Amino acid sequence: MTQQLDQTRTETFDSLNPITGDVVGTHPVHSAADVEAAVASAREAAAWWSALSYDERARHLTTWRGVITRRLAQLADVMHQETGKPHGDATLEAALAIDHLAWAGGHAEKVLKRRRVPSGLLMANQAASVEYRPLGVVGVIGPWNYPVFTPMGSIAYALAAGNAVVFKPSEYTPGVGEWLARTFVEAVGRPVFQVVTGLGDTGAALCRAGVDKVAFTGSTATGKRVMAACAETLTPVVIEAGGKDAVIVDSDADIDAAADATLWGACANAGQTCTGVERVYVHERVYDQFLDALVEKAQGLRADATSGSQLGPITMPKQLDVIRSHIQDALDRGGRAVVGGIDAVGDRFVQPTILVDVPEDSLAVQEETFGPTVTVAKVRDMDEAIARTNATRYGLGSTVFSKARGMEIAERIRSGMTAINGVITFAAIPSLPFGGVGDSGFGRIHGPDGLREFTYPKAISRQRFKPVLALTSFTRTEKADQQLASIMAILHGRGGTIPKD
Ligand code: NDP
Repeated sequence: MTQQLDQTRTETFDSLNPITGDVVGTHPVHSAADVEAAVASAREAAAWWSALSYDERARHLTTWRGVITRRLAQLADVMHQETGKPHGDATLEAALAIDHLAWAGGHAEKVLKRRRVPSGLLMANQAASVEYRPLGVVGVIGPWNYPVFTPMGSIAYALAAGNAVVFKPSEYTPGVGEWLARTFVEAVGRPVFQVVTGLGDTGAALCRAGVDKVAFTGSTATGKRVMAACAETLTPVVIEAGGKDAVIVDSDADIDAAADATLWGACANAGQTCTGVERVYVHERVYDQFLDALVEKAQGLRADATSGSQLGPITMPKQLDVIRSHIQDALDRGGRAVVGGIDAVGDRFVQPTILVDVPEDSLAVQEETFGPTVTVAKVRDMDEAIARTNATRYGLGSTVFSKARGMEIAERIRSGMTAINGVITFAAIPSLPFGGVGDSGFGRIHGPDGLREFTYPKAISRQRFKPVLALTSFTRTEKADQQLASIMAILHGRGGTIPKD
């Protein structure tokens, strides 16, 4: 936390271990005044940070990356304590975030530095160039499901682009947020990256604290509240909201690989993944074969508290009600559970659940479940699979299993990202943009788009020599107007003619 804050504050909250209910840590509930102080001190740090060269910033980010990497086991332990996710999953998540940090630091100069652009025939006397300047202070509001990977998609790219960052982690994972900010200050020595902790109100205060952009990850409903708060000050936002991602399995697909990927995509992280698999559409010719393979694999998977368990608990207790209601609605409306079912939802853990014959307008097909559940439906052909895939308000990720038609099908899906013959692979490729359309949000993290997201383009035109035609002057003559008309006729007058009936 920022050093300047009032130490007399008494209000605190606990983060709990979702497996045992034990208190993992106690953290301050930062008030609006605290958040403003953090933003003010980040702004001071931003002045120093943005004045560094790209190389100098990259060196600092490399030092931080080294510290995180050497203490990976410690970070994974905090993640495990606060979310309940298995150590192996926590390590993988942090490793992918480190890779993004490396990419962002290493590519910022190439993507953002000033570059020449063509000035066009009419302005041939001008030299035109553009560069991408940092915005100042970026507020990041993060979720609990991937408490390192997800916020780092904004934090790493915003920092590499020359901004300071104030991060509000979820109330379920404040310890992870504090760990990240503490190691940053240790590595870099200045509070360019800070954390504020608290509940939803602290996040709302960050939206109103005068930051230059807010990057939000969480539910669509809270995303709308964030956007409304930011609208008061015309603060731009990136919204990474939920999804209802589908897998499409074509008749020529590698069925075993498709079933393996579907199960992992649906159940990894106990299904609490924004790009998690929640629906599957399978060609009728391979439906039975696929379902048999999926069921067999799912039967070997259990969520429990044993040390070797591959599935952890549901991190946020109120999510259990959402998962239960989606399964119940599917069953009430004629669906069948071929694995799991309503009894799969326990007090802390949810067992894998595979639902079939579920109507397309039911909760389990339309709303984000965020649990280890998946619906499987038979389709006549790929046209039907695509139409059903596209029939939700969301459009985050998607997956296609097909040997011959992968690209063709992928291009017809309305989603920000698609993996072909793999699942969620796009998230681990740092040069690819990450984000959605529709209720999944807008704006992008990761890749060149993710770097530019935290900048503003600065355009400069510089006169190299006097213009042949003085167009931007009251001394412009009638002759110049006629010459302009002639040039326009040559340049643009021969375009296609409007067809007559
Ligand atoms: P929220 O969207 O409510 O929370 C996400 C973040 O926003 C948290 O840091 C939260 O803080 C913060 N926040 C809450 N209210 C406000 C506000 N008014 N202004 C600013 N920030 C705020 O998600 P939940 O954790 O409640 O999860 C609900 C559902 O969201 C899940 O069931 C799942 O469907 C979806 N979700 C999607 C995620 C994704 O990756 N796209 C990630 C997490 C959830 P705090 O935690 O302190 O309340």
